[in-house]
Amino acid sequence: MSSEVLEFLKDAGVQFVRVLWCDNANIIRGKAFHLNLFDEHWEHGIGISMAQQAIPALYDAVAPNSGLGPVGEVWLVPDWSTLRILPYAPTHARVMGNMIHQGHPWLFCPRHFLKRMIAAAKVEGLDVMAAFENEFYLLQQNPGDPVPADDTVFASTLAMDLNQEIIDAIAHALISQKIAVERYYPESGPGQHEISVRYTQALQAADQQIAFRETVRAIALRHNLKASFLPKIFADKAGNGCHLHLSLWRDGKNIVNSLHPTPHTPHPTPLSPTAQAFIAGILEHLPALMALTTPSSNSYRRIHPHFWSGAFRAWGWDNREAAVRVPSNPVPPSPTHFELKTVDASANPYLALGAVIAAGLDGIQRGLELGDPVTVDPGTLSEAERQAGRMDRLPTHLGEAIAHLSQDKILLDALGPDLAQAYLAVRRTEWEALKDAELSEEVSLLLDRY
Ligand code: GLU
Ligand code: MG
Repeated sequence: MSSEVLEFLKDAGVQFVRVLWCDNANIIRGKAFHLNLFDEHWEHGIGISMAQQAIPALYDAVAPNSGLGPVGEVWLVPDWSTLRILPYAPTHARVMGNMIHQGHPWLFCPRHFLKRMIAAAKVEGLDVMAAFENEFYLLQQNPGDPVPADDTVFASTLAMDLNQEIIDAIAHALISQKIAVERYYPESGPGQHEISVRYTQALQAADQQIAFRETVRAIALRHNLKASFLPKIFADKAGNGCHLHLSLWRDGKNIVNSLHPTPHTPHPTPLSPTAQAFIAGILEHLPALMALTTPSSNSYRRIHPHFWSGAFRAWGWDNREAAVRVPSNPVPPSPTHFELKTVDASANPYLALGAVIAAGLDGIQRGLELGDPVTVDPGTLSEAERQAGRMDRLPTHLGEAIAHLSQDKILLDALGPDLAQAYLAVRRTEWEALKDAELSEEVSLLLDRY
């Protein structure tokens, strides 16, 4: 097996294999080994300091109270099933790493956390499928304040023509990494785009999210542009969402809809009882979940009423202002999935998706009831009307979400004490550093990180 992989890489002219990890601040990092040392790294991978799981997005220094420090090594062991040659850097290959300590998955490893949540869903007989729906800006490579690559509007065919080469190159590069590209359109902001990819198994969806960000950024660079997924770059222009699309499966069958209503589902809703409880669990935990799904101080500049980013704790059919939208299909079966809008690409996809699964499973285990769907833009209702419908405004800054997460026993237990402590330490450090920052300062610090 290892010799076949080595031959394959040699034949392809690969020099370096990058072993990647995504840290608690959602910075994608990698260490590469030369093919000459393939045998040495095949099984045990490459060493990183334990402190890597305690580094905030701002600078390479250990966050206080993270439980981690400069002493201690973990091994980033390649998951060889994720090996891909990088179409935009063909002498390099990429493989996702699992963090291993003393021969076992390290409890601080985000990828391991998602695997644990996938296993917990399996105990309920469920498979979770997912897709991250990325929006990003293409910007000029000028120094100083960011300048969009063009000045176009939503779904503008001019934007399609202006950007045809780069969008084709991105699509081509994604497909060559076995990522199924589905739809493309220019988004509402000038220079903003959205390319959606097909849903897949949860772990693969999170891996794809890493590959997607890597690919878009690299291809943009090769076109003398800069790509950024930062949630809010321009105060008066659309933000970058990364809505999370989810579906639940049992024995290979999609069970989001309820084709056979039972006495337990008397509502005129075709959502299955399992999907209802799962969504109810997400909504129940959402203020805390947001510390993982919209985890940057910048994230909260995006989540505002009337910006289609899910500012209220509510769900609705085809409602783009509800935090959870259940899209209907043109023909039955419908619905087949649901979408969480309070997610952006500053979220570590393993942590975000794992925590969403934990919240959904809690909904199922406690039999939480899903309230009524909201049929209007909740932002147009009065405060009293929203309160009557239990549509809370979701956290308006990271500090609030962190406070919710630090009280959420279900999510903390799911993360486990080690990962929870390190994660909260990283986010608290960022919040302390940035809570009074102006947008321009935040953007100059974070634009290139995400
Ligand atoms: N840009 C919006 C957001 O921040 C989403 C627009 C859309 O519905 O695609 O989430
Ligand atoms: Mg969009």
